[in-house]
Amino acid sequence: MQPTRLVIIGGGPAGNTCASVAATLGAEVTMVERDVVGGAAHLWDCIPSKAMVATGGELAELGQAHAMGLQATGELDLDALRERVGSIEQRLRTGMVTQLESQGVRLLHGTARFVGSHEIEVTGAEGTEILTADAVLVATGTRPRIPDWAPIDGERVLTTRQAYPPSEIPGHLVVIGSGVTGVEFTHMFRSLGSDVSLVVSRQQVLPQKDPEVAAVLEDAFLERGIRLLKGARASAIERTPDGVVVRCDDDRHVEATHVVLAIGSIPNTDGLGLDLAGVDVDAGGYVVIDHNCKTTADHVYAAGDVSGKLPLSSVGAMQGRKIAEHLLGLHSRPHRHLDYDKAASAIFTQPEIADVGLAEADAFASGRKVRVTKVPFSTNAKALIKGDPRGFVKIVSDPATGVILGGSIVGRAAAELISVLAVAVTNGLRAEDIADSLFVHPSLAECLTDAAT
Ligand SMILES: Cc1cc2nc3c(=O)[nH]c(=O)nc-3n(C[C@H](O)[C@H](O)[C@H](O)COP(=O)(O)OP(=O)(O)OC[C@H]3O[C@@H](n4cnc5c(N)ncnc54)[C@H](O)[C@@H]3O)c2cc1C
Repeated sequence: MQPTRLVIIGGGPAGNTCASVAATLGAEVTMVERDVVGGAAHLWDCIPSKAMVATGGELAELGQAHAMGLQATGELDLDALRERVGSIEQRLRTGMVTQLESQGVRLLHGTARFVGSHEIEVTGAEGTEILTADAVLVATGTRPRIPDWAPIDGERVLTTRQAYPPSEIPGHLVVIGSGVTGVEFTHMFRSLGSDVSLVVSRQQVLPQKDPEVAAVLEDAFLERGIRLLKGARASAIERTPDGVVVRCDDDRHVEATHVVLAIGSIPNTDGLGLDLAGVDVDAGGYVVIDHNCKTTADHVYAAGDVSGKLPLSSVGAMQGRKIAEHLLGLHSRPHRHLDYDKAASAIFTQPEIADVGLAEADAFASGRKVRVTKVPFSTNAKALIKGDPRGFVKIVSDPATGVILGGSIVGRAAAELISVLAVAVTNGLRAEDIADSLFVHPSLAECLTDAAT
């Protein structure tokens, strides 16, 4: 029997995970990428931002060194930082390319589009090639949304993708948008020495998050001298000879050196010829998928940000894996569909914020009875040893069964610690299953056993 010919458009986390798993399961895989393998996630989004957050974090630690009994000061070497960010991306990309090639995946550099229901045209430096596919994965990601009133110039008025690695550290940066990306940029540039003003369209940063969680971050921002413009919508940006003026719809304005927009994304579906394959998109241009990530065309799947689900690398990669298994028949064995409500996510600020599953505020809003237990890190030995007792662990469970429904962690290493609760939420563990586990002492994770007890 001929192997299934799978063509993947887009080499980000969704595309390359699907390519790797499908090749291992015996498919003949071609992955088309117009920029770099690793996708926007590696080139512009997750990896550079987290690499810069890491440097900012080390600088902040040095600032606290005296509390550890040390005399130390740090100074930013911007060239070294830029080199470091580039080398991390390069190393990840090389590893990924080597792995995919060793698995027999054909990597094609070029721009792909449907020219028939099963035919994909790829245009690259070498010319044009038509691929014929039994199945296609659309994993083309998104790009920053740019409103009419924002005269993006890549110098002073920036999208998130133009803001790093920066050629200079902005003297005063205005961040427009206080969702996950906006608060991460606020934290990142403040850590690197910029004055930062954050335009918050509502009355709370991170409007989708538990208010108690958002409040800890707001306090930390205010303590670090970050200016919060709450209830303000940016409506115009003007260039001045040496900077920018950001105007809000309530007549407030901020003068600064730079401004970065973090107000969401739009899907890369235009020009893909999806209609030729019978693939529907929704009003926002996102590809419509079912619980198997199948589109309205039987042989076409979509995954990652373009599918309009949770815009996280981890989610895209999991969709990619599930698609490979579905396409190649592994779904006939006991199979768990991806439950987006159980995805853990993190915000890499200081303190870090992470959550999974049902939030206390959502349970309250829906009238669902839950048991909520909360333990502050100020009672945790390791947090005190590390000199950072901010934040808390909160566990939301079912009062009748004890099954853990969700949780939030604010504090040092929250993005790592949340994995314990993610395992619990995904597998229906009860609070006592965590309470009965013997964790290391002293460790931050002990806050989890305390909150589960
Ligand atoms: C600033 C920022 C920080 C983030 N940090 C995190 C984080 O810490 N953790 C996390 O989980 N998520 C994070 N995200 C989200 C994460 O980056 C995305 O969820 C992830 O990149 C989505 O992966 P993807 O595979 O859908 O697409 P992408 O990574 O966007 O890759 C899509 C690829 O498709 C290619 N492509 C598009 N059209 C075509 C075409 N016609 N032909 C060929 N190739 C094409 C593009 O060149 C691109 O490389 C962050 C996002 C932003 C904006």
